[in-house]
Amino acid sequence: MAVAAGLAVAHAGPGITALRTVRTTFFPLLSGQGTCDHVALTFDDGPDPAATPQFLDALRERGVRATFFLLGSQVARASRLAADIADAGHEIGVHGWRHRYLPLRGPAATHADLAGTKEIIAAAAGMEPWLFRPPYGVLSTAGLVAAGRLGLTPVLWNCCGREWARGATAQSVYQSLLGDLEGGATVLLHDSDCTARPGSWRAALGALGLLLDECDRRGLRVGPLGKHGPHWQAPRRFPP
Ligand SMILES: [Zn+2]
Repeated sequence: MAVAAGLAVAHAGPGITALRTVRTTFFPLLSGQGTCDHVALTFDDGPDPAATPQFLDALRERGVRATFFLLGSQVARASRLAADIADAGHEIGVHGWRHRYLPLRGPAATHADLAGTKEIIAAAAGMEPWLFRPPYGVLSTAGLVAAGRLGLTPVLWNCCGREWARGATAQSVYQSLLGDLEGGATVLLHDSDCTARPGSWRAALGALGLLLDECDRRGLRVGPLGKHGPHWQAPRRFPP
């Protein structure tokens, strides 16, 4: 049943996996639902030489770790930054090579895209990614198959800052996050503007401290997806 439902979503294409109610009801893990006293903090589209170091500084000051979903093309340009993210104790996931829309790509291209990204992350950061977030939050059957073969667990989000929107500010991003912020949420922000308007990450960076303050007030722990609850652990790897 779960497999059939998952495939139905994959074939349905854009929009379906973006419907929050559908996601959280039928696909709690895919939607990023975690344990009720924890908020998973995730960043997409990096590493970005201008932005990522500032996010790393802000997180270090607050003693918070997060999950960074990296683009292979960005890692190729800034491999040292990928290592910096890992060295700071953050988790790294696969976000694809160039932020291409998966439903428009065939099985071979999709597999090569994810495999290449996983490989360059492992080489640059010295760690093996186990999480995969599809570009635009839209999966495809080929994407699910490739992720499965590569040992990658797909995950979306259920709380986003929308810093890419026209006119977004730190306050508007914070308000957008507040709308869906609760224990078990997976927050999406971007530490890069490579797929959005220039400088859009600044609103996300401005909102980050406000978000962490609010989580403190509510007694919510904030961390990477790997700490998001008992179901959120890297799959055990057994010797062949
Ligand atoms: Zn993205």
